Amino acid sequence: MDKKIDWQSLEFSYLDTDCHIRYTWKNGNWDQGEIRNDPYINIHIAATALHYGQSAFEGLKAFTCNDGKVKIFRADENAKRMEKSASRILMPTIPESMFIEAVTRVTKENIGYVPPYDSGGSLYIRPLLFGSGPRIGVQPSGEYTFIVFVLPVGDYYKGGIEPVSAVVVDRYDRSAPNGVGHVKVAGNYAASLEPRQIAQKMGYPINLYLDAKEHRFIDEFGTSNFIAITKFGTFVTPSSSSILQSITNKTLMSLAKDSGMKIEERPIQFDEIQDFTEVGACGTAVVITPVNRIERGDRIIEVGPQNGFGPILGDLYKKVRSIQVGELPDKHGWLTEV
Ligand SMILES: *Cc1c(COP(=O)(O)O)cnc(C)c1O
Repeated sequence: MDKKIDWQSLEFSYLDTDCHIRYTWKNGNWDQGEIRNDPYINIHIAATALHYGQSAFEGLKAFTCNDGKVKIFRADENAKRMEKSASRILMPTIPESMFIEAVTRVTKENIGYVPPYDSGGSLYIRPLLFGSGPRIGVQPSGEYTFIVFVLPVGDYYKGGIEPVSAVVVDRYDRSAPNGVGHVKVAGNYAASLEPRQIAQKMGYPINLYLDAKEHRFIDEFGTSNFIAITKFGTFVTPSSSSILQSITNKTLMSLAKDSGMKIEERPIQFDEIQDFTEVGACGTAVVITPVNRIERGDRIIEVGPQNGFGPILGDLYKKVRSIQVGELPDKHGWLTEV
């Protein structure tokens, strides 16, 4: 590493680091993995990932903790989820131990890019698995590539916590009940680009998707799960076969449960939003973004405080951030030391 990074100016955008790690699967086996410096790959023109979307990814983070050690948050959960994604689109799975080794090795190799403890930043880790061998008929590839690259990202809230507005664009769905919405496969994101652009042109940074079958129940936001607090202080989040099982959501549910809150994972009707006291969008990139306004057609629902977090989501947010950097004890064993 020979670049000087201004940790305070980092955003969530691509930056080259020193290297990535790359594994190849051929004849039924993964190789040992290789550290590569060149951020380009040579890929066959008929690779199944390019034509038929045989590709899945993950996103997780490493933090410099208050004891100076670098630790990765919930890597085992990302390993398990990538296994589910791989199985659903007939790609070979990656053993959990190989996944952990890959994310640890590439983080170590790029240790100079992990933002310091007090910067509020982190190292974003992006595992990617795809069919790299040629096929022209629709069938799974005979060769696969597994890559893990990393990049430093800044503290999303360095300018203060700003709640966002969301919109339901009713003529689009993100995923179908028996489709691939529950796994992190590339095609889901291609499908979300157009409705996302429409929402942004309307002035809404995020989309809220409803269940594709009836448009009556809440699924999730474009790249984050829907969470809410009821007036009785219950933590609610949708159960649906077409949403991605967010690891951040799982973390928040554990912490809410630890503090004695009631948790409900159940179908949530769109019309219930007006009764919630706090709504949030959760995912690895930001942990929780408070949502204070949801538009659908000619309806606008205001929810929660106009500024910052409501008390319960604000408290959960702080707890997650504190555990990630070692300021609160890691009671559940969520951190892996690099
Ligand atoms: C990745 C993702 C999330 C968030 O999951 P985390 O594990 O919390 O980062 C939520 N929804 C979708 C559609 C996603 O792709």
